[in-house]
Amino acid sequence: MNTNTILKIENLNVNIKDSNIIKNLNFSINKGEIHAIMGKNGSGKSTLAKTIAGHPKYKIIKGKLIFKNDDITYEEPEMRSHKGIFLGFQHPVEISGVSNIDFLRLAYNSKQKASNQQELDPLSFFQLITKKLESINMDTAFLNRHVNEGFSGGEKKKNEILQMSLLNTELCILDEIDSGLDVEALKNISKNIQNFSNANNAIMIITHYEKLIEYIKPQYVHIMKEGKIVYTGDYKTANLIEREGYDFFLNKNKL
Ligand code: ADP
Ligand code: MG
Repeated sequence: MNTNTILKIENLNVNIKDSNIIKNLNFSINKGEIHAIMGKNGSGKSTLAKTIAGHPKYKIIKGKLIFKNDDITYEEPEMRSHKGIFLGFQHPVEISGVSNIDFLRLAYNSKQKASNQQELDPLSFFQLITKKLESINMDTAFLNRHVNEGFSGGEKKKNEILQMSLLNTELCILDEIDSGLDVEALKNISKNIQNFSNANNAIMIITHYEKLIEYIKPQYVHIMKEGKIVYTGDYKTANLIEREGYDFFLNKNKL
């Protein structure tokens, strides 16, 4: 395996209950790359994202997930997260009664502990997190509010970006992070995603929204259909989908 490869998926087959949702899917993503995954509703995009994160409902019946040379096919979700996989939610959960800063410190320290690194006391953590907030232009007032409670759509997504930057995520999967955002919020999130992208991490964006692809310009755009990747092109693919619809690609075999 190429030393730049962060995730390699080989011949993946995933069942939900008894139905086979992902079918012989192959995919690989390297350091420094951003890939987008598009496709009609029900084509298996979220199933793929949750399978990579290790959601227990999705059963891998065949194939392998290799994360940086490590076989994680049957690894627990917590371990995957400690190793550097982050899944951002379409609808981030609200947690009443828990302040955002306590939640973030807990997540940070549990990752530090798992990798035998130093945990931070509240004061040192505050210094670290305020730097991260500045880098994404987020107000410190969000630290003392309850996790996502009363946050606008754009603010919730920003909070997800804050988490992934805090946890030094190496593989970041964003499932419809754009849903419910207005144009300004979308531009903002796109900029944050681009700033977060570096030579040592990789980002998978699942989206329906051509505008997001236009702002972020991922190196690859994949189209999923019935649990498979049926087409791979560059960022211009999104514009063609917008004009011609998905079926236009399904008759082509450019891979
Ligand atoms: P996408 O994210 O591309 O819209 P999904 O991965 O959510 O698609 O869904 C893929 C297929 O899996 C769909 O046919 C959907 O009905 C099915 N599916 C998803 N979740 C469940 C579930 N909990 N139980 C049964 N089928 C499911
Ligand atoms: Mg989905």
